[in-house]
Amino acid sequence: MRSFDGPRAIWQSLAAMPSSSQGPKNATAATHALNRAVLDTLPFADTQDFEDARRGLIGSLPEMEISNETGRVVWSLKEYSFLAAEEAPPTVNPSLWRQARLNMHHGLFRVTDRLYQIRGFDISNMTIIEGERGLIVIDPLISTEVARAGLDLYFTHRPRRPVAAVIYTHSHVDHFGGVRGVVDEAAVQAGDVEVIAPAGFMEEVVSENVLAGTPMIRRAHFQFGATLPKGPRGQVDAGLGKVTSRGTVTLIPPTRVIEGAFETHRIDGVEIAFQLAPETEAPAEMHMFYPALRALNLAENATHNLHNTYPLRGAQVRDAHAWAGYLNEALDRFGPDTDVVFAQHHWPVWDNARVLEFLAKQRDCYKYLHDQTVRLMNHGYKSTEIAEQLTLPPSLARTWYLRGYYGTLSHNAKAVYQRYLGWYDANPANLHPLPPVERGRKYVEYMGGAAAVMSHVVFADPANAEARQLKADALEQLGYAAESATWRNAYLLGALELRKGLAAHTGRAPISPDVLRAMSVEQLFDLLGVRLNGNRAEGKHLVINWVFPDRSYVLNLENCALTYLADRRRDGADATITLDRAALNRIVLRELPIAEAIQSGQIRVDGDPTKLADLFGLFDHFTLMFEVVEPKRSA
Ligand SMILES: [Zn+2]
Repeated sequence: MRSFDGPRAIWQSLAAMPSSSQGPKNATAATHALNRAVLDTLPFADTQDFEDARRGLIGSLPEMEISNETGRVVWSLKEYSFLAAEEAPPTVNPSLWRQARLNMHHGLFRVTDRLYQIRGFDISNMTIIEGERGLIVIDPLISTEVARAGLDLYFTHRPRRPVAAVIYTHSHVDHFGGVRGVVDEAAVQAGDVEVIAPAGFMEEVVSENVLAGTPMIRRAHFQFGATLPKGPRGQVDAGLGKVTSRGTVTLIPPTRVIEGAFETHRIDGVEIAFQLAPETEAPAEMHMFYPALRALNLAENATHNLHNTYPLRGAQVRDAHAWAGYLNEALDRFGPDTDVVFAQHHWPVWDNARVLEFLAKQRDCYKYLHDQTVRLMNHGYKSTEIAEQLTLPPSLARTWYLRGYYGTLSHNAKAVYQRYLGWYDANPANLHPLPPVERGRKYVEYMGGAAAVMSHVVFADPANAEARQLKADALEQLGYAAESATWRNAYLLGALELRKGLAAHTGRAPISPDVLRAMSVEQLFDLLGVRLNGNRAEGKHLVINWVFPDRSYVLNLENCALTYLADRRRDGADATITLDRAALNRIVLRELPIAEAIQSGQIRVDGDPTKLADLFGLFDHFTLMFEVVEPKRSA
């Protein structure tokens, strides 16, 4: 079946459906039929993954629920008890149901001698290697509460030893945010604990999570479904794991950075061969091979689903070609000596023959995605046309770990197109398209009124209750039929927001204070630059010297643009500010109002102090809960 026939059948089936009720509905007959058909197309009799996901289990928490100091639950698997049923309900794609059940395995697992994993304590895994003196902790999850709980679980089953090193495999928050749950920064500063990361780690932590932080977090609601109710008609999984934990996000900068393509180091007595893999699943990422353990850690480049060359939360497009290349290198260099391969999500693959097949298929999947998309591009196909016709060859299509629970072939192909040719399809009719509200109005007008074109009516007239209901019903059925967890979450949150409006909650702050502290002054000024309201800055010209204990900067506002130069001071500036970094951090975090900072002497202003207040009056504050599936209400 072509991928667009399913959605079409779903839209058509809605004509016969009453759209009065507010809550999630049953699957329509069309959705149910689509989901039943999946059972015949995929090898459900192959249950090796369930064996692997259980293998080596040592123990877990009696009740999988973790709270923070104030008692707020930051992680729970209790809400997922409905996944005990083996058979998928009509409202969930059976392939996704299978993955959602696999992702329920949790606890402390022995992967091989001296190598353990904490799984099911967050969307990601924490890997623990027993070194000579203590422990090497790889990727301490998203938040301190779950990382601490994971390490405590390890200590209930294994000897209590100090953490000797922390390794971040890459620059995504689910691989570093819980670090203060496993080590004290004082121990790092005293040199007792090494923190190791790939080249570019700190730069990418900031550039990927901060400058575009607000829309990424808001869009991540749609990708992970963290704010959706859990259940057969709600969120069941995120593909890569259940969902993201909601505790305290921290960061301790690395003390050692892996800079070479291949570097071998002895970390707490364990030989580790590092392989840098930049521009793959993350801009800064690395693989590791542990020769004495015959174990290969592929960070997040070979997991048990097709990954994203472009995640729905939004990101710079990743390089599928490089991704395949680094997997090929890993296969060639480490594969022959590997008895177990694993990642920082999902479960390992054991036995050399299976390891080699796993690596080769993962490599070929990303290479095929890249090459076939580019081939079709060269024939003149546009991204939507490529996405509709691209399918994996049968040898890859029936492989469970390449199914699109997280990425999909469809949106990944569009990303490959975007990486080479950008958003524009070269058809001048699409060069200057109308934004959604205007487009919605035109569709409705041209196509004979609201009754004929319900899906555009929401943007033309967001108060039209019937249109909102019908669009919600349609999105919901598309979600029920989706194999991808991220697509399901996006559709179902769209339906929820159409029915109930936006939730009042604000979620976690886009910038953790640890991340802000780790930013350079230049990066902070870049952040202020993207907060500058260009309209309000019209006609303003301000020059401000910033004098820190170690360096000085000149900040210039002119032509509605904020620029800076390091190691300069401008005579005749409007003001010269003398301060330390901590004060600037607190001002940017809005913990310290400018006036109070001046009064209390935390910053000294020579020149005109009102200029500083003028400048900070020009910055926008971003709010997380903006409208996504209907017109924006406020600027
Ligand atoms: Zn991850």
